Amino acid sequence: MKELAIHGGEPVRSTFLPYGRQAVEEQDIQAVVDVLRSDWLTTGPNLAAFEEAFAERCGAKHAVAYSSGTAALHGSIFAAGIGPGDETITTPLTFCATSNCVLYQGGRPHFADVRRDTLNLDPEMVARKVCKNTKAIIPVAYAGQPADLDAFMDLSQKHDLCIIEDACHALGATYKGRKTGSIAHMTVFSFHPVKHVTTGEGGMVTTNDERLASRLRRFRSHGIESDARQRQAAGQWQYDMIDLGYNYRLTDIGSVLGNSQLRRLEANLKRRREIAQRYDEAFLQLPGVVVPGVRRDVEHAYHLYPIEVADDWDRAEVYRALRAENIGVNVHYIPVYLHSYYKKAFGYKGGECPNAEDAYGRLISLPMFHGMTDQDVADVIEAVGKVMFGLRKVATA
Ligand SMILES: *Cc1c(COP(=O)(O)O)cnc(C)c1O
Repeated sequence: MKELAIHGGEPVRSTFLPYGRQAVEEQDIQAVVDVLRSDWLTTGPNLAAFEEAFAERCGAKHAVAYSSGTAALHGSIFAAGIGPGDETITTPLTFCATSNCVLYQGGRPHFADVRRDTLNLDPEMVARKVCKNTKAIIPVAYAGQPADLDAFMDLSQKHDLCIIEDACHALGATYKGRKTGSIAHMTVFSFHPVKHVTTGEGGMVTTNDERLASRLRRFRSHGIESDARQRQAAGQWQYDMIDLGYNYRLTDIGSVLGNSQLRRLEANLKRRREIAQRYDEAFLQLPGVVVPGVRRDVEHAYHLYPIEVADDWDRAEVYRALRAENIGVNVHYIPVYLHSYYKKAFGYKGGECPNAEDAYGRLISLPMFHGMTDQDVADVIEAVGKVMFGLRKVATA
């Protein structure tokens, strides 16, 4: 057996393979250069074109672009009318922005546990936590797999709740044949470079509700009713600020990049699903590795491919050993309420969501991005096998 790199052996790869990476092509670069030579660097024709194409791709009536996924989440909390005294329920197994956005508006995020198989927010756990102050549920499509949205929409009817799906992982996923972005009251996406489509920094909210769409548009530009392009077209200087908003606008430079990338989304998804299938096949029989559980009624978008390590292995050691093999593994996520800020502000002590915490102790995200070559995929498979066999003796000694 080959010696592990962590023990001084030769690493599987000589160069580092990150867990996620953007793919920017020549046509993207040319599109950005053209915008730099144009009249509109922000809130121009490319913003409108990107929003329109995005709404169509998601099967939604409206898409409102933001300067980041976090800003888009903040906008959706504002549009839902959440303020002081209002409560929301979300999953702890997410990036902290999912719940921070509730705090920005003075609301209180609560956490309900995840299902042990999909690691998505469990509707039964949520139902037990709904109370008279609950205004919204924020399910996250963890790793790119939609949560059980029908169950959440049922809850929303029963208790008059807003469903805001954090689909920052799930552009291009489907749930029971319906597209992510067309199902919840609002669906939020991110265009950070590790996500499917990038604008550098950027985000989007889709909705079928005209009233929510206009609130979302106002909030991203100071709460002002019109935008600069509309005022220029109308030849008028007057405007009214109706709400307290922010400057959360996406530039036309970012918009044109996003729109150019969106045209390759199908190939991007196809490649990610191919890689996931190769991982599944390679790891199903491998001792110590549990592959991600996928519902039969979804099409996964595979922003991430998180494995779990079994009891006889030490996750921290497996992580370090894979890093030493030059495989850029990561962990998604530290349960949000275990961060110092949440512990201090709300008195969380650990143990509140046992499924999420147990998963957190085992999770390792393997490299997953559409630009991976077949050799990259083979390297990951080889390194995981090498490390699991190499560390097993230690674990069972
Ligand atoms: C990436 C991400 C965000 C935040 O998006 P940014 O564009 O980085 O602000 C929010 N939620 C989840 C689940 C994410 O993965």
